[in-house]
Amino acid sequence: MKSVFNYCLDFIYPRSCQICDAPMLCHSNRHHCDECLNGFHTINESFCKVCGRPFHGNTIESAVCSECEAGKFSYRGARSLFLMRSLEREFIHQLKYKKGSYLKEDFLKLLRSNLSFYDYLEESTLIPVPLFRSSYKERGYNQSLLVCKWISEEISSCEVADVLIRTRKTQTQTKLNRSERIRNVKNAFAIVDNFVLDFDRKWIVFDDVFTTGATVGSCCDILQKYNNNNLYVATLGHG
Ligand SMILES: [Zn+2]
Ligand SMILES: [Zn+2]
Repeated sequence: MKSVFNYCLDFIYPRSCQICDAPMLCHSNRHHCDECLNGFHTINESFCKVCGRPFHGNTIESAVCSECEAGKFSYRGARSLFLMRSLEREFIHQLKYKKGSYLKEDFLKLLRSNLSFYDYLEESTLIPVPLFRSSYKERGYNQSLLVCKWISEEISSCEVADVLIRTRKTQTQTKLNRSERIRNVKNAFAIVDNFVLDFDRKWIVFDDVFTTGATVGSCCDILQKYNNNNLYVATLGHG
């Protein structure tokens, strides 16, 4: 429920879409117009069963992409909600650097429009990729944990277990190649003492973006010691 104050605020200062600047309907809790959200490249079907990369054209479902064919992974599969293109990059930027808590309703619209991704998350324990404490202090929140909480509020069979910690400051992965990324985050995570996890559930390590899978892979390496049969990955974007 929006407060009277917010109604008045919307009336005096009508909001516009955070991406294209089109005027938004008053009294909506969303900040992106339908046209922009409908333009997101959501990944629904025909994707690599290991990394979640979408296939284009008539590729059979559940195949493995060339990059994953030779690899060994500590998780059984990864899925992403959407492919990273310009609209999606802007969305992730807002989530990470502009106090993204206002994006909840826009995120839920995207989530509800992708039923196969929605189903993938059902009955899982979501484990967010943590920030190092200095980054957390600077940002004030962990964007992956924030999204996990939104999901668990939407999907009642999902729960969140914030059980990982980042043990050292890692360089930003953006300018690193695949092997440098793996080295950068190797052994950078640990499990908190006295963690509580249900070993019968599907565990999903959750991050904002999957690029080479190095970060989520490093988290899964730690978790695999406890549960190696039911460990998965999910991210918002696939880079
Ligand atoms: Zn727009
Ligand atoms: Zn793949």
